[in-house]
Amino acid sequence: MKKLLTTFSNWRLQHILIVSFVLTTAITVIVGSVITYGVINNYLAGAQDARVGRDMDLADAFYNIKLQDISATAGRLAASKVVAHNVDSASQRDASAIQAIQDQIDNEITSLPVGTQRLIVLTDAQGRCITGRLASMGHSTPIACQTDWSSWPIVASVLSEGESHSATEVFPANTLAVVGLGRQAAIPLTETPKAAPEPFDPREGTAGLGLTSVAPVFSEDGELGGTVLAAHLFNQDYTLVDRIKEVAGVDTVTIFFGDLRVSTNVEDEFGNRAIGTRVSQEVFDHVLVGGEEFTGPAYVVNQWYTTRYQPLYDHTGQIVGMLYVGAKQASFQSLLDSFQREVFRTTVATILLAVLIAIPVSLWISRPFTILAGATRRVAQGDWSVRVPTTGLREMRTQAASFNTMVENLQEAQDQLVQQEKLASVGQLAAGVAHEINNPLGSVLLYADILYKETPDDRQQQREDLQMIIREATRCKAIVNDLLNFSRQNQVLAQTTDLNALLHDLAAQKRKQELYTNVEIVEDLDPALPAIQADPLQLHQTFVNLMDNAAEAMPEGGRLKLRTYSGPTPGLVTVEVQDTGVGISEENMKKLFTPFFTTKPIGRGTGLGLAIIYGIVKMHRGQINVQSEVGKGTVFTITLRQQLAAPAEPSGAGTVQS
Ligand code: ADP
Ligand code: MG
Repeated sequence: MKKLLTTFSNWRLQHILIVSFVLTTAITVIVGSVITYGVINNYLAGAQDARVGRDMDLADAFYNIKLQDISATAGRLAASKVVAHNVDSASQRDASAIQAIQDQIDNEITSLPVGTQRLIVLTDAQGRCITGRLASMGHSTPIACQTDWSSWPIVASVLSEGESHSATEVFPANTLAVVGLGRQAAIPLTETPKAAPEPFDPREGTAGLGLTSVAPVFSEDGELGGTVLAAHLFNQDYTLVDRIKEVAGVDTVTIFFGDLRVSTNVEDEFGNRAIGTRVSQEVFDHVLVGGEEFTGPAYVVNQWYTTRYQPLYDHTGQIVGMLYVGAKQASFQSLLDSFQREVFRTTVATILLAVLIAIPVSLWISRPFTILAGATRRVAQGDWSVRVPTTGLREMRTQAASFNTMVENLQEAQDQLVQQEKLASVGQLAAGVAHEINNPLGSVLLYADILYKETPDDRQQQREDLQMIIREATRCKAIVNDLLNFSRQNQVLAQTTDLNALLHDLAAQKRKQELYTNVEIVEDLDPALPAIQADPLQLHQTFVNLMDNAAEAMPEGGRLKLRTYSGPTPGLVTVEVQDTGVGISEENMKKLFTPFFTTKPIGRGTGLGLAIIYGIVKMHRGQINVQSEVGKGTVFTITLRQQLAAPAEPSGAGTVQS
């Protein structure tokens, strides 16, 4: 399981999504159909069972009607005046009396429906045969009368009790032979799979099973004069089972003698009635041995049936055979099979449909991940220009937007870091050099000054040369000063600063300077501008540098505008220094803040001004931006925070360290 999950987690997202979609669909559909199949199967099995139950009731009713019919025959004859009047004489073998009774029996037989098989026998009070007839296959024939019928238990019972009995009885083989039914009763036992090893009744195969009714005959003096026996043999007689099948619509009906099929409409594989085969061991144990009804699916002869078996009892209550009804499972099975095929087809179609839907959907879901992964890889390789499209799912759009912002911020931070590192190393170098130069430069200036003062007025040329030395040395000192400033600007000594006042004072100062002779300084200061936390000396230096740059960009004169306002977002203030000077070319724009970048002639510019400004603004956690158009002018925009520290900290925090 764990191994499977590991393999799974190495897959591409799209494939995982497709597999999950399809699995979910497949499991849902399969579980659904299995449950439906189960429900339908149960329902059909229940319906089939109920049907077979009803079939058994019908078969049982028909069976009993047949038994009543036979007992009616026996009863009518036993009660007839002719029989009662002649029974004693007939017992004495009086020919005319026997004839009279025989006529009466023939009468009875003629009144039965054509084709009825019926054995009718009159015995004397000892059970000896007086006369008898066998109606079979449309013929009525006298039987050979040499049998002692008292060997039939049912006859013996009637003789001793004087009461009639009707039941399913075993017909002994020897009697059957005498009355001409021996051939019909003989059913050779066939080898049957699943049957019990031994037959239930050893007489199976030769003896018969049939319905028997025996009624006592009382002579006119009221004494027991004999009995009338009426019987119907089931062996190889299919009238009853076929009638039940046809009239009651029962699929198959069988009458068993013991466990042997003696009358049935179940067919074997050749289409013959399956007599001679025996019931399965399971049913044998249940019904014949256990005396219980058997319900359920059973393998009958050669296929499955939903069945019922119930025991048949003789007049003493002994189990002698079984009555069976069954419905082929094939019809019900074919319904289930076609349902199963349909379900299978639907399942396959649904899964295919799921695959078709899953492919584009999973592609749509996984695409942003793939794009994001690719973008992340490129960023890792140092490509800061990567941006991902903010399309697709809502979560992914947010993710993409965050990623873009993150890359932008990272790039900015990276740029600043590089710039700050550069500045820091340059600053260190500059500080070292500046210190070394400052002292000798002081001496040069001092001695040049002394020399100048000592030089008489008439030595004009010498005085001019000395002045040149002093001027140039002073410039050097200014450069050295700039360098020292540059190296020192890693500390902010913050205090409440009024930017408007600072700019206003600066403007006033600058107007007096020679550089600004042709420059008009315009102040557009927002009177509502809040005071900010900043280092005023550093800001002073910042704006001096910006204004000097602006003035230097306007050698022919022009307008320098100082503008302040609150914003662009709450908590920020902005200062704009705008000139109408020469502007900055596209390629110089990138180098602007690099230390020692200057376009001014040697001796005029140091290229440190903007680098220092950049450092100061960053130290104040602010922003500096330039917009310029060559020939039109330039705007430097500086945005500063009102509060230097984060808002949660106590206000007026002093020093901010980089
Ligand atoms: P410097 O002034 O010593 O040259 P800066 O760092 O102050 O050094 O400026 C660098 C360069 O930026 C200048 O040489 C100039 O080319 C350009 N520059 C700065 N400000 C302006 C401006 N307002 N208008 C045009 N060019 C400017
Ligand atoms: Mg400058």
